Amino acid sequence: MLQIQRNVSLKNFNTFGVDANAAYFVEINHKDELAELFMDPQWKHMGTLVLGGGSNMLLVNDFGGLVIRINIRGIEHRISQQDVFIDAGAGEVWNDLVNFCVIRNYAGLENLSLIPGSVGASPIQNIGAYGVELKDVFYSCCAFEVASGTFKTFSNADCKFGYRESVFKNELKGQYIIVSVKFHLSLIPNFNLSYGAIGQELAARGINEPTIKDVSQVVSYIRVSKLPDPSTIGNAGSFFKNPVIDAAQFAELQLRFPAIVHYPAPHNQVKLAAGWLIEQCGWKGKVVGHTGTWKNQALVLVNHGGATGEEVYSFSSQIIDSVYTKFGVMLQREVNIIS
Ligand SMILES: Cc1cc2nc3c(=O)[nH]c(=O)nc-3n(C[C@H](O)[C@H](O)[C@H](O)COP(=O)(O)OP(=O)(O)OC[C@H]3O[C@@H](n4cnc5c(N)ncnc54)[C@H](O)[C@@H]3O)c2cc1C
Repeated sequence: MLQIQRNVSLKNFNTFGVDANAAYFVEINHKDELAELFMDPQWKHMGTLVLGGGSNMLLVNDFGGLVIRINIRGIEHRISQQDVFIDAGAGEVWNDLVNFCVIRNYAGLENLSLIPGSVGASPIQNIGAYGVELKDVFYSCCAFEVASGTFKTFSNADCKFGYRESVFKNELKGQYIIVSVKFHLSLIPNFNLSYGAIGQELAARGINEPTIKDVSQVVSYIRVSKLPDPSTIGNAGSFFKNPVIDAAQFAELQLRFPAIVHYPAPHNQVKLAAGWLIEQCGWKGKVVGHTGTWKNQALVLVNHGGATGEEVYSFSSQIIDSVYTKFGVMLQREVNIIS
């Protein structure tokens, strides 16, 4: 029997640690409970918010609808020659899945070590780090369609993955609840060590022929040294996406700002480092009221204690304005704004 709670504080359910209440709250432990939940028409017509680990959202206000916390567990694995197929429940903690694979020498997730959050949220923004994105290892996912009450399987192509994008953030936004994700890994590593910091750290440890575990440990080490730990200081990782601009606009910017940090992007475009742009506007390490940017990485907005979602949101708007004024580049928020 589903337990629907009323007026639940979400403070401990979001890594920003902002206080906001959910009018209704339910935890889903099995996929069939979703059908049971939506049999009651009142939930179909009420605003819903699907919640995993709350590590990629900013709760700007109280949420007047039903918060659905996904806690569907279970990891199954199958080996076929050199291929490994993993089926994981949406409520599994992402890094637990990474560790599950690393200790069994299943290759593919090691660069994505220590990303907070749940398995079910990983396709939503096609999580990525250190040159690897979810789409590189994603096979399919199973999702519940709220309108029809049925389950549908989405292939990699169906998900229309892009840089921090998927179909679930765009045309199908709010229509599906992911209940499990299937990954295609391998017994034979094909390491992506293109990020300088990984190679440097491996070299510093005297490792010439890294194992899957080595890469995972090095990635985790680099992340811990660069990013604030949400259990000590509230944050949601990178608050903004790295902007992608066309080559002509980039050429113009590079003339004015020769040191501009940039990376090649597909379709003759250029990706700029949002953290660098923000830093150039003087925001790095700034404290404004209860919020601010992280001292080591201006791309990360933090809650210094007691910040409201509104405060963080309005601070992020100030940053967007100043970057636009200086560079003519409009930053987009990566974090999901819930208002
Ligand atoms: C310190 C820190 C570092 C981070 N580093 C990275 C990084 O390197 N790379 C990266 O890509 N991200 C990073 N993030 C962001 C975050 O970890 C990921 O986006 C993660 O996938 C969010 O998972 P979650 O379960 O917390 O999602 P939530 O915040 O709970 O939800 C995020 C969005 O997904 C939706 N959603 C969640 N679960 C489901 C589901 N089962 N079905 C349908 N919709 C769902 C929610 O409604 C919401 O819109 C970082 C965050 C932090 C705090």
